[in-house]
Amino acid sequence: MSQSILVIGGGFSGITAALEAAEVGHEVYLVEKSPFLGGRVMQLNKYFPKLCPPSCGLEIQFQRIKKNPKVKCFTLAEVVSVSGQAGNYEVSVRIKPRYTAPSSANLQALADSLSQNIPNQFEFGLSTRKALYMDVPFAYPQRYVLDPEHIDEEDRQKLSENDFIDLNEQDKSITLNVGSIIIATGWKPYDVTKLTNLGAGEIQNCINNMQMERLAAPSGPTQGQILRPSDGRPPRKVAFVQCAGSRDENHLSFCSYICCMASLKQAKYLRDQYPDAEATIFYIDLRTPGRYDNFAQDVLSDPLVKTVKGKVAEVEEDITDGSVWVTAEDALTGNKMQECFDLVVLATGMQPSLAGQPLPLNAEVDEEGFVFSAESNGIFAAGCAAEPLDVMKSAQSATSAAMKAIQTVRGR
Ligand code: SF4
Repeated sequence: MSQSILVIGGGFSGITAALEAAEVGHEVYLVEKSPFLGGRVMQLNKYFPKLCPPSCGLEIQFQRIKKNPKVKCFTLAEVVSVSGQAGNYEVSVRIKPRYTAPSSANLQALADSLSQNIPNQFEFGLSTRKALYMDVPFAYPQRYVLDPEHIDEEDRQKLSENDFIDLNEQDKSITLNVGSIIIATGWKPYDVTKLTNLGAGEIQNCINNMQMERLAAPSGPTQGQILRPSDGRPPRKVAFVQCAGSRDENHLSFCSYICCMASLKQAKYLRDQYPDAEATIFYIDLRTPGRYDNFAQDVLSDPLVKTVKGKVAEVEEDITDGSVWVTAEDALTGNKMQECFDLVVLATGMQPSLAGQPLPLNAEVDEEGFVFSAESNGIFAAGCAAEPLDVMKSAQSATSAAMKAIQTVRGR
C-alpha cells in the first residue's frame, strides 16, 4: 500500500488538494502540464467571494508548497499511463524540457532581446510574448520557460551564450508509485468559434469573459485599463451576453454556474473604471446563488447597469467603426430589439479541460467530459474537473477529494 498521492492539475483545486494531503504527512506528487501553477484563477483580475486579486490566495499557497518538502511539484508534465489498483498505482509521467536552469534569475532583458513576438495564450491572444517568458510577475515556479519553436538562428546563438539556458535539455520520463489519485484538471472557456450567431470569435470588439478579466487585470495586456481591442478606446457602452454556449443542447447542455456572477463582477469593473459608462446584461435567468445575491442586488441597483431578459439572437460588427450590433428578443415585452455597443462580452461556458480527450487512467466521464470519482479505485475528481464551480467551492471540493484520498491510502 503506497501512502503517496498523485494530484493531476496544478490550479487552485489541485494545489489545495496537494497541500491538504501533504500537511497531514503524505507525500504528494503534483503534476501540471503547463509551465506554471495557478490555473484559471491566475488569469482572473479578482475572484469571489471577497473579490481578491489572484496573488492574494495563490501567493500564500505557493509559499506553502515551497516550504513543504512533502509536495513534489512537476510542471510541463503529463501523465502518460496508469496501471495497478487503489493502494498501488504505477504512474508514468513525461516531463517536457524547460530549457532554463533551476534558478529564479531575472532573464527579462534576454527575453526582450529575442526577435519574434508570439500570440500570448495566457492573455487569450490579446497581446504577444517572447519565446522566453513568465506568465505573470508572481508566477510559480519563479523560473522562466523557453519555447524553442519560436527562435531563429540569431536568438539561438544569443540564448546559448547565457549560463541559465540549456538548449540541449531533453524530455524526461519518471515513474511514480501512489496509492490514490486526484484529478483536478480544471476547465477551459467554451470555444467561441462554435458560436456562429455570436460572431464566431471573428469580431474584434466581441470578446469572451476571460479576455475581459485579462483586460481588467493590472498584470494584463493593458495594465488593467478596459480598452477596445480594435482601437484601444475606452468603451462607453458594453453588452454582456449571458449563457454564450451554455444551457444549449447544440453546445454545452448545462449551466456553467459562474458566468452570471462573472458578468456582474465585470459590470462593476467597468463602472468603477468609467463613471459614465453603461453596462447592459442580456440574460435568460440571472443565477446568483446564496450570499452572492447581495452582491448582485448591489450591482443591479446602479442606474447605469441595465438588464434585458431575453436571449441574444445575433451579434454583428459595424464595419464603419468596429462597434457591435446586438439583436435580441426582449422576453418581457416580446419585442425584437437591436442596439449598438462599443464592446460585447460573451459569458462563455465552462467546459471541462478533459472534454474530448482520452483519459490515461481508469475513470469515468459523463457526456460533457466531467469526471466521476471512483471510490473503489481510489480515484477522486476535484473542482471543475467534476462540475462547474466557483473558486470557493472548488477549494471545498478539493479538500473533500484529499480527505477521501487519505482514507484510501490509510486503508479506511
Ligand atoms: Fe447562463 Fe448564468 Fe448559468 Fe452562466 S451561470 S450558464 S450565464 S444562467
